Amino acid sequence: MIAKILPKHALQNWIETLREHYRIIGPKLAQSQFIFGDIHSADELDLSYPTTILPPKKVLLPQREDLFHFDATGDTHIVEPTFDDEPTVILGIHACDMHSITLLDRVFERGTADQHYQTRRENTTLVSLECIKSCSEYSFCKSMGTLSIPEDFDLHITDLGDEYLLEIGSNKGVSLLWNFNEVREATDADFERLNKVMSEKWSHFTYRVDFDITELPALLSLSYDSKVWEELGDRCLACGACNIVCPTCYCFDVRDEVDFSLCSGGRFRVWDSCQLDRFAVVAGGHDFRDARAARQRHRFFRKGKYLTEKYGVVGCVGCGRCAQACLVHISPVDIFNELHRRRVPSAATQEEILA
Ligand code: SF4
Ligand code: SF4
Repeated sequence: MIAKILPKHALQNWIETLREHYRIIGPKLAQSQFIFGDIHSADELDLSYPTTILPPKKVLLPQREDLFHFDATGDTHIVEPTFDDEPTVILGIHACDMHSITLLDRVFERGTADQHYQTRRENTTLVSLECIKSCSEYSFCKSMGTLSIPEDFDLHITDLGDEYLLEIGSNKGVSLLWNFNEVREATDADFERLNKVMSEKWSHFTYRVDFDITELPALLSLSYDSKVWEELGDRCLACGACNIVCPTCYCFDVRDEVDFSLCSGGRFRVWDSCQLDRFAVVAGGHDFRDARAARQRHRFFRKGKYLTEKYGVVGCVGCGRCAQACLVHISPVDIFNELHRRRVPSAATQEEILA
């Protein structure tokens, strides 16, 4: 491991140095809630944040993103794609959100690679943050296997108390410390402190899913006709909040905007939600998933089965944002456990079967 030590009092200067070359995004307080937003000074950055309303996905896949514009008003007709290549650093990303970016990277590179996502991603440096205590009562990252940081970080921060240990994961990570002389090489004593922090952190998280999560795809397959989906459909308000806050949801709608002369305009995409009533309406007015129960089932099958089978990583990273946002308290942990409970006979039933 290549690592440096950054004294906490030097954080301000480091941010100032980075701001000369990058747009800096990080967790900060906004109207009593934490968000990922532009950081103009180290005072704004709060690396002890619990969780944010929206995940850092919003930087790589903005809520509204221009795709191309055209202009046919002059002699030369112009059609130009729009790419955002501003060098950006996202600071302080929790492990669950890092896992969601691993998934998004795979989604947007397969098949016809999404050049808009890829351009932004190539120009973004990811600085992750070791989770030392649970960030919210809703999170269940330990159950989902997303409590440890994945390999694709550029720089990884661990809070050692009065100093930060910065583990370097890539050349992009090296660049962030280039010519900054307020860091020093990590010593054996620093690595001992790191080991202590890492060995103590696991007891601060609990397993909340009642079974081994590798069984989830099979459990969902067996539960396709479960009554759970009808029950969820009866409760769900179809508001879409669960999708909007989710770091692994990436469905979008594409819209055109044209001026009155019809000679210039553009195309953009916006986030969409599979839980909205008209999400699945297609040509002719046909709605191929009109029941809320069917849409809830689809949502949980994507999170627990489809994405895992297609991309080889979990489709739900256990951040708990959807459970926190849902007005009728629909929570993935409860749904997964309820499906499991209904598939596994109780001890009394097992005795009856054996008798
Ligand atoms: S489904 Fe919920 S808990 Fe899972 S990643 Fe999305 S928002 Fe987080
Ligand atoms: S947040 Fe809750 S009520 Fe709203 S669509 Fe999602 S599950 Fe349904």
